[in-house]
Order: sequence, then C-alpha cells, then structure tokens
Amino acid sequence: MEEILKLQKIIDGAKDIVFFGGAGVSTESGIPDFRSQDGLYKLKYDYPPEQILSHTFFNYHTREFFDFYRDKMLYLNAKPNAAHYKLADLEKQGKLSAIVTQNIDGLHQKAGSSDVLELHGSVWRNYCTHCGKFYHVESVANSQGVPYCDCGGIIKPDVVLYEEGLDKDILEISIKHIEEADTLIIGGTSLNVYPAAGLVDYFHGKNLVVINKGKPSKIIPDALYIDGKIGEVLSQIK
Ligand code: NAD
Repeated sequence: MEEILKLQKIIDGAKDIVFFGGAGVSTESGIPDFRSQDGLYKLKYDYPPEQILSHTFFNYHTREFFDFYRDKMLYLNAKPNAAHYKLADLEKQGKLSAIVTQNIDGLHQKAGSSDVLELHGSVWRNYCTHCGKFYHVESVANSQGVPYCDCGGIIKPDVVLYEEGLDKDILEISIKHIEEADTLIIGGTSLNVYPAAGLVDYFHGKNLVVINKGKPSKIIPDALYIDGKIGEVLSQIK
C-alpha cells in the first residue's frame, strides 16, 4: 500500500515523533471506543453516557455512575495490541519522544512506553475525595454500589470527567512536546473532545500523519491520511 510506504519513509527520516491518540488505539485490544459503530454511545442507557461521565452526575447520582463505570469503563485484563507495541518500540529506538493520550486504560505503559501523558487520567489510580488516600483499582472494581474510604469519603477514579479541567502540568508538557516535534502521528481519535483535540494545533513540524478508521471530525490540512485499523497499519512498519 502506497500510504504505508510513505509512512515508513516519514518514520525513517524522523528524529522527534509525538503520537497523539484516543480510544480507537485500544479497540483492537477489545476496549470499545465512544463514537464508532460498536462504541459506547450507540448503546442504550437510562442517561446518555456523556451525562453519566460528568462531574455533576458523579455528585448527584454517584451509585449509578459507579454501576456504569465498573461495567463499561474497566477492562483490567485487556492487553496491548500491535499499535501500543510499535509505539513503545519507536520510543526505545529514540525516535518517539512522547505519547499524548486521551485514553485512561494504561495500555501504553503495559506495552513498555514510559513517556506517556495521560490527558484524561487513568483508571489505575483512585483517591479518596476526602482524605486523599490512594486506592488500587481493585478497590473500585470489586466494590458494590459506591466505594468508600476508611475515613468515610468516596473513592474517586483519577479520570477527568466532563465538566472537569485537565491537569495543567500535563497539558503544558504535552504542548511543549507537540511544539518541538518534527512529526506528529494522530491515531484512533474522532478529535471531538476539547480541550484535548485542540492540542494538535500546536504542531508546526514537518510531517503530520493521521491513522484512523474514517475521518476525524476536525480537518487536519496537509496530513498523510491512512484510513485503517491502527494496529494493522503500525504492524507493517519496520
Ligand atoms: P472516540 O470514540 O470519539 O473516537 C474514536 C475514533 O477512533 C473514531 O474516529 C473511530 O472511527 C476510530 N477507531 C476505532 N477503532 C480504530 C482502530 N482500530 N484504528 C483506528 N481508528 C479507530 O474516542 P476519542 O476521540 O478518544 O474521544 C473520546 C473519549 O473517550 C476520550 O476522552 C477518552 O478519554 C475516552 N475513552 C477512552 C477509552 C480508553 O481508555 N480505551 C475508551 C473509551 C473512551
């Protein structure tokens, strides 16, 4: 395929690649995304998933939030796929400086990547909202109803809900990496969720690549666009 050859050439010539990704990176690991045909937004619940995953809903319907969260957001046995492994490999080769991800599943780290900027947090970290005590994910996964800390506070996953702000330091470091990169690879994201999606505008380097099933909603001018499954695409890269 001509596009794969072009991508190989870009990667061969790159010195500082940043990968910016979303839920589509993990669908080949069996974790549904939000907006695909099989995505969570196509399923029927009492409330729309955007509402369930909001700060207000967490505060006022905490039990229903956790029922949904345990059922649909936790895939603790999921394994990295070829996309995660190739990106980890590019980091080891010294070509990739950072992964900026909207995912909360920790699969990049499981694949061996170390420079991972988690814009929306991680299901693997959980804290008491009252005393701040850290809890392992099992405390939430194995709980029923609302998980409580020994102090009586609610244990909250360290994930960014709708209406919540992003971590300022993670945003700043992500922007710096993107500004300094010579190559930006965007993959597996509809680019619908802001402010995360706006970060790609900070790229002023040489080569921009989009690997996605279908076109993202935001138009990326001058990009090499590869329509396909990201694991299948990246596994063809040497
Ligand atoms: P999204 O669901 O809006 O979009 C996913 C995009 O990836 C779609 O354009 C889809 O066509 C494409 N896609 C699906 N499978 C693909 C594949 N194998 N290869 C290439 N492209 C593929 O997801 P988003 O843009 O990341 O934004 C939604 C929010 O979803 C994020 O904030 C994220 O926190 C959250 N989320 C995360 C996970 C996770 O951690 N795995 C899962 C679901 C949702």
